[in-house]
Amino acid sequence: MSLLYLLKPGELVLKGGNRPQFERILRSNLVALLKGTGAQISYTNGRLYVCCEEASRAGTEDALKHLAGISGWTQALRCPKTINDILETAASEARVCFDKGARTFKVDCRRTDKSFPLNSYEICCAAGNHILSTLPAFKVDVRKPDVHINIEIREKAYVYGFEEHGLGGLPAGTAARGLLLLSGGIDSPVAGYLMALRGMRMHALYFHSYPYASNEAREKVVELARIVGRYSMGIRLFVANFTDVQMAIKSGAPEAWRVVLLRMAMMDCAARLAHSTRCKALITGESLSQVASQTVENITCTQSRSKIPVLRPLIGMDKEAIIKLSRAIGAFETSIRPYPDCCTLFAPEHPVLHADLDEATALYESLNLGPFIEDSLRNAAS
Ligand code: ATP
Ligand code: MG
Repeated sequence: MSLLYLLKPGELVLKGGNRPQFERILRSNLVALLKGTGAQISYTNGRLYVCCEEASRAGTEDALKHLAGISGWTQALRCPKTINDILETAASEARVCFDKGARTFKVDCRRTDKSFPLNSYEICCAAGNHILSTLPAFKVDVRKPDVHINIEIREKAYVYGFEEHGLGGLPAGTAARGLLLLSGGIDSPVAGYLMALRGMRMHALYFHSYPYASNEAREKVVELARIVGRYSMGIRLFVANFTDVQMAIKSGAPEAWRVVLLRMAMMDCAARLAHSTRCKALITGESLSQVASQTVENITCTQSRSKIPVLRPLIGMDKEAIIKLSRAIGAFETSIRPYPDCCTLFAPEHPVLHADLDEATALYESLNLGPFIEDSLRNAAS
């Protein structure tokens, strides 16, 4: 028997004239995510459906779990628009929900086809009574039911119970492209994911310090890019070797300044790559005061090397909340693999915490890092 999924649109319902464009991108993202599953999508009267065989249930549900722009989805039963078919289908769905552990229910009905002989209230009463007669242990609770048995009378009748939460947000590709500064840590993959949910597609840039950081460290970032890319509908990873930049900072600047200057160099490099790859914003995993480089003053210094906005979706988030998201998107286990990135090998014991912008700028400019940065970008495409 084939399975039918019904998708509920997210924030795009708030869109006015450009809603069709958002919906078109949502549909093409869904087609891309479903590739290889054999599932078919259909779009009828403003509602998106996915139909697949039982064998591709897992692949189809995995695609729905990665689709930005839907508030929820549910498996539904479809039947002809006769009251008998509807009652039988409602009873089957009730049985499924009861078997999943629900003990109380409420029937909700929506009737977009006003020519149907019964109104919504009458359908609810008839379905409720029928469920009670076939499954007496299932009780009605109109205030706080374990499950809503939903009946929708459209071009056909649809019946569904439990709903899954979707990712919400907007379809990836409805906003400009961003450039994600992707390290091997916990934060930056989460930052990329959050911006994908705001409609961004993205490239990613990793600063690698080979041979000080191992190839395993790079492999870890490749894997993280793949994980984030499932939400952002693909990601192109650039790997820039930053060893020469780091060495120039190490030999030319006071030890306490290394971190701020390295961050400034990263932003400088990222802004140049964003320009040449037409990315309109940078994205980082910075969270205010989480580490020395992320105080307001030090962020002011790093920010100064980029003319395009630096988006920091984690700026006000608690680490526990970030870790929770990291687990939810399937990145955590990869992020905690113990390969040091370039910064851990480079950090001074007592970094400058509240850098003065003028002092930082003067130091940064005295290092003349431009040629090293250009060099790192020349071979950066992966
Ligand atoms: P993360 O967990 O993302 O590594 P973090 O808490 O370790 O973040 P920092 O090391 O200060 O924080 O890095 C702040 C941000 O700078 C990162 O979230 C990331 O966006 C960027 N960044 C740091 N190191 C790198 C790197 N090697 N390559 C690319 N981006 C980096
Ligand atoms: Mg890091």
